[in-house]
Amino acid sequence: MIVDIIDQKLVFKESHFYPRGGGQPGDFGLVRCGTIAKKIGEVTAGDVIHHPVEIADDFEIGQSIQCSFDIERRNDLATMHSAQHLVSAFADELWGAATVGNQIGRNETRIDLKFDDKTVFRIDSIENAVNDAITANLQITTAEWTAHELMEDDRVRNRSFIAKILSRLPEDVDKLRVVRIDGIDICPCAGTHVNETGEIPKISISRIKQKGAGKLRLYYELKMSN
Ligand SMILES: [Zn+2]
Repeated sequence: MIVDIIDQKLVFKESHFYPRGGGQPGDFGLVRCGTIAKKIGEVTAGDVIHHPVEIADDFEIGQSIQCSFDIERRNDLATMHSAQHLVSAFADELWGAATVGNQIGRNETRIDLKFDDKTVFRIDSIENAVNDAITANLQITTAEWTAHELMEDDRVRNRSFIAKILSRLPEDVDKLRVVRIDGIDICPCAGTHVNETGEIPKISISRIKQKGAGKLRLYYELKMSN
């Protein structure tokens, strides 16, 4: 049901769309009301979840609607995003490099890494480590953890960065969604992921950019023919 219309954005009573956040773009989709069907642009979130449409005049508050999202796009982004967890985990495992930013894309994803000494970086080392974890077909699961549990567990990587994110959360948030890749990684994340690493095609580092002292911007793609 439509509960609000803000500018050209519809707000629904409940939404299964993923809103842009955490480096992952929002879902696109379709909204239907009777004989009317309109495209929904990239879904975003503020206090509520916004579903942008080109012309909101076709809709009214209180109307019942049916929605669908672009499932191929959602799956592509979930696959890329799951690969990002592996790349970030192995950058930490191999060189103690922290992920300080990322932007998930359907065709290419970028990760900003911060090193103590970036001359240690080797493309083949990280490609091999990630691709071995893909071949091992490890389970990816989610759980709810408190901030305390996250900060006290040695298996959680990059905790100083996580502490900064935690400090910006509203005080009434007491549990966080945690994504675990069996034996490899535990990290707080609200994005969408695949269920097993074997669903991810092998990765290939497509380019590297120097981003100033200690930082590298790394881009990867997924090889569609394994
Ligand atoms: Zn994630």
